[in-house]
Amino acid sequence: MMLSALPDVLVVGLGPAGSMAAAQAARAGLDVVAIERKQRGGAPVQCAEFVPNMVAREFGDLGPVAAQPVARMLSFVEHAAADIKENFPGAMIDRALFDTILAERAEAAGADCRFTTALSAVAADGTVRLADGTHVRPRIVIGADGPRSRIGRAIGARNRDFVETRQITAALLEAHDGTDIFLSAEIEGGYGWLFPRAGVANIGLGLRPEARHRLKPLLTSLHGKLIAEGRVGREVLSVTGGPIPVGGPVSPRGGLGETAVLLAGDAAGLTNPVTGAGISAALQSGALAGAAAAEWLGGDENALTDYGEELEDLFGASLSRALKRRRGVLAAYRSGGKPRPEDLRQGWVGYPEYWAA
Ligand SMILES: Cc1cc2nc3c(=O)[nH]c(=O)nc-3n(C[C@H](O)[C@H](O)[C@H](O)COP(=O)(O)OP(=O)(O)OC[C@H]3O[C@@H](n4cnc5c(N)ncnc54)[C@H](O)[C@@H]3O)c2cc1C
Repeated sequence: MMLSALPDVLVVGLGPAGSMAAAQAARAGLDVVAIERKQRGGAPVQCAEFVPNMVAREFGDLGPVAAQPVARMLSFVEHAAADIKENFPGAMIDRALFDTILAERAEAAGADCRFTTALSAVAADGTVRLADGTHVRPRIVIGADGPRSRIGRAIGARNRDFVETRQITAALLEAHDGTDIFLSAEIEGGYGWLFPRAGVANIGLGLRPEARHRLKPLLTSLHGKLIAEGRVGREVLSVTGGPIPVGGPVSPRGGLGETAVLLAGDAAGLTNPVTGAGISAALQSGALAGAAAAEWLGGDENALTDYGEELEDLFGASLSRALKRRRGVLAAYRSGGKPRPEDLRQGWVGYPEYWAA
């Protein structure tokens, strides 16, 4: 079936933000087209797959996607023993299934969801060209197209600062119920992680782009250390990675001719610049963007401005603290220096120093 060339809403990207936006707008009775360049939601996975339990507020019961529960966070600074933060409840999820379920809900709500359908250009009048040559002229575009959003770029609101990541999966030889975080001056502008996922472990590393050539050797070294400790297997079962926006929020709304534009999730720079976590913010902002689109098309002139204010209320304080802490750690590298263990602790959410004034 041909897709509607003049829909009320075009959602670009069917990750968590886009699927939530499409579902919300379709439930409000709008004509919604949603496009995704991948063949299916969330695959291949580019994620460490941890979510805090509060994500259930947007997603509902995590049971169907939960791989295993997480109870605590262990932070290792340089070679010191772990500092353990208890009461850190969350879940390791099957991210591909999580995204697939969200996209199915958007379809069930009435959105016309098209996979293997990429946006290839956005014109200044809001006309969107798809890779197959089709043109779509929506009344609102919701850019939920991830860290390097084409929609964000079209309205001059693009993410400029990233962490580059590499992650492998290996067998987990000892059951574990915590997320392990490895902080070191060597891991510039990022951290290493081991997240247990029932029988396997996601082991990864993020670095500032200037140091990206060190991703592979540093991850090999972290993997080697974990093998030597008898915690994980030698065989690499899969490899993934991708950029994480860490520059903080961009302006989440704009216009292209008469077409209004909203950004949600990573496209809006809502990922936490310290932890890299963005699933929860993507779900929340996507739902709000879909609702704002419906209100605006229903005649509420302030709905789009309100959307920007809601994002600021929800995420402004935590993102600005994270940005400040990240800058603090990065400042230590200037003039050939490096962060001390106390700088690394102040720059990580697992320590009270991070939360101090
Ligand atoms: C290695 C890694 C580990 C991470 N681990 C965690 C974690 O453990 N917990 C957590 O909360 N967050 C984590 N994150 C961040 C999290 O994955 C993102 O914040 C989250 O996916 C954002 O959702 P989104 O819907 O905004 O964007 P995305 O999930 O990136 O979805 C955007 C979608 O848009 C599509 N798209 C892009 N361009 C186009 C186009 N031109 N045409 C059509 N479709 C397009 C993409 O294919 C994609 O499916 C991690 C990120 C990385 C890279």
